[in-house]
Parts: sequence; C-alpha cells; structure tokens
Amino acid sequence: VRQLARTPSYAVINATLVTLAPLARRTTAFARVADEDLGVVRGGALIVERGRIVASGSRAQCEAARCAVAARAGEQFEEIDAGGRALLPGLIDAHTHALFAGDRIADFEALAAGETPPLGIRYTVEQTRKCDLDGLIALGARHLQLLLAHGTTTAEIKSGYALTADGEALMLRAMAGLDAREDLPHVVATFCGAHGLPPEFHDYDAFADELCNRILPRVADLHIAKFADAFCETNYFTPAQSRRFLQACAKRGMRLRLHADELSASGGAALAAELRCASADHLNFIGEDGARRLAAAGTIAVLCPATTEYLDLERWAPARMLIDGGVPVALATDFNPGTSPCCSLQTVAHLARRRLGMSAAETIAGVTIQAARSLGLDGEAGALLPGYRADLALFEFSDPRLFGYYFGTNVLQSVALGQ
Ligand SMILES: [Zn+2]
Repeated sequence: VRQLARTPSYAVINATLVTLAPLARRTTAFARVADEDLGVVRGGALIVERGRIVASGSRAQCEAARCAVAARAGEQFEEIDAGGRALLPGLIDAHTHALFAGDRIADFEALAAGETPPLGIRYTVEQTRKCDLDGLIALGARHLQLLLAHGTTTAEIKSGYALTADGEALMLRAMAGLDAREDLPHVVATFCGAHGLPPEFHDYDAFADELCNRILPRVADLHIAKFADAFCETNYFTPAQSRRFLQACAKRGMRLRLHADELSASGGAALAAELRCASADHLNFIGEDGARRLAAAGTIAVLCPATTEYLDLERWAPARMLIDGGVPVALATDFNPGTSPCCSLQTVAHLARRRLGMSAAETIAGVTIQAARSLGLDGEAGALLPGYRADLALFEFSDPRLFGYYFGTNVLQSVALGQ
C-alpha cells in the first residue's frame, strides 16, 4: 500500500479536493446529495499536522496554516504535489465481517454450479474457533491490509464467528488490538452475537437466551463493542428474537445495527426503525412502508451490492426509492468469506452506480460521510475539514465523476491514515 506522506505533518497541493464540506456542516440527516454537495475545490491544498487536518481549501486559504505547520515541524515536513488528482476522505466501510478464518471455496463452487452451498456460517465458526488471540489478529491484519489497499481507512467489523462467551470476547479483543495498530485502518467493533446458530444449539430461542444471559454480559464488560447487530431473516433470527437480543445490548450501552430484509421481506426494516437503529443493512426486499419508517426514525440504510452480485440475488436494493423517500444511503462491502469476498469499496461504488442507479455524488457520500454518520464518527471522519482525522485517499483520476466508473481495477494512488 503506497503511503501518501512519509511524515506525520505535511501539505498536499494541486489536488482536486472532494471535501464534502456542505454535507459535513448539516446537523440533521440528509438523503439527497447533489453534485454541489461534494464541495469540490480544484487546485486545492490540504494541510496536516500530526495526523489531523488543520486546513483545506484553495492554496491561498491554506497558506498561513502551511507556513505555521511547516515551521513547527521543521525537517519533518513534506509537500506533496497531487498533480490534479482527486483527494477524497479515506473510504469508510460501514459493514464487514473481516475477522474470520478459512475460505468458503466449496460454497463458491456450489454457487457457480447453481447448487446449494454446503458449508455456510457454521464452517467459518468452526475454523474461527480454532484461533487464539494472536492468530485472529494476524488474520484480521491481512484482511485490513486488503481493505486499505483499495482506499478504506475505517472499517466496521462484526463479531459472530465464535458464538460463545469466550470466543466472542476474543474476537472483540482482537478488534481492539487491530484498532490500536497505526499501519491499519481504524476499526469500529460490533458485537454481532445473533449472527447464526452455533452447532451446539438447535433452537434460536434457546440461543437468544444464551446470548442475553451469558454471552452479552461477558462482551459488554470489555467495553470494546460500540454497536450490536443481529441477522433478522426468515429461517434465522425472527424479529422477536432479534428485538430481545438488541434491546438487551442497548441496555448495556451499545448502539444498534440490523441485517434487515436481505433475502426476503421479513420485517427487518420495521424493527430497525422501531429500535431506532443507527443503520439497517442490505434491504434488498424493503418495501415503501419500511422506507417510510426508516426515514422517520433517522436510520441510515447501508447497502451491500457486492453481496447481491456474488449471490446473484433476484433483487438489488431499491436505492432510488430509499433516497427519494428520505432515507440516507451508505454503501459497504459486507466483506465475509461466504457471501461477499470483496474488499473493494471501489467495486461497490461501481455496482452502486451501475446497478443501484446512484449518482457519483451519492456514491461518494455513501462511502464517506453517510458511512461515517452510521458509525457515529461525525466530525471525525468522512470529510476534509479542519479538526478531522487525516484519513485520505488519493485516486489516479481527477474528475470525481470517475469514482465508480472503473471496475475490477484499483485506481487508488496512495492513502494516509490519520490519528
Ligand atoms: Zn453482514
């Protein structure tokens, strides 16, 4: 992964800045994103001091800050000429399962042959349970490197491949270890206990009891998980079981996300709105009533078109209906071994534009500021403004409309991780 700068304080000049400033200044949720909302500055400059943005805008606007920071940093100051390329906030992946062991090649080959995948989440649970803390961190680091190589500087990661009190605690401790690494994307940890049924359980109600009575207390005491999540779906966790688990998590201080209406219309969006979840994810099968409820609740839709592509699902998420109905839309890879082995938000951006009908501006907002808001990172990540973390992604193109145009091609030039 090419680093944008070698020093913690530096200036980027001659960049096409995609600041997202007009959106970052809004205090309430927004769904519509117009081209002007990207806050593009051509020939722009961005000044960073010790991993934080201190100025962004025209060269003239940044000159005083550049002089002051350069004077304080002395020899340790670099000036990078971006050559007119587009500089975006580092991309934010609001939905991944990036901590897992093993692959699911047999599932892939079954899918390709039109057969039922034989392994499922259970196989990944079996493989992940064999790992100790160091092993988990090594696997997670490899996956985070891949995400970073495609421009992602913050990734939400869900637990849910251990499904025991000790195992889920270990997954969350690994996430904390990964988040502490300065060479990897920032990690937002989600306790996704209601992810599947572990092999030693045969009943979702009984496992929901186990989650609330044993696994949650252990996990909550660590204070690592910022969010909790459940897989609410026909033949998996019902809305009632998901509600019981998530309400218990909320009582322990976690905010909520929900896998909702991914494979069928199963009441997920209505439940996400009822619980005032920060995000409702997937939503391939959401209807207009569900969209109205999400809009009223201020819940952000996190759409995962790479999963739709990989599973060849019959319905793409209705992004246009959501946006027109007032639901903010973020985009994510859903990176996981069984249903989305995709680490590239650039590929997701292509699918969003080609398959979901989203504009370049909506797509860019979806992988930056909307994703940041869904993760509670307002004012910290997702825009190029003073005070924000200097998480940056410099792309080979200069016209922001080219974001999502390339596919199967990594057009990241370099990346920076702020502090
Ligand atoms: Zn997921």
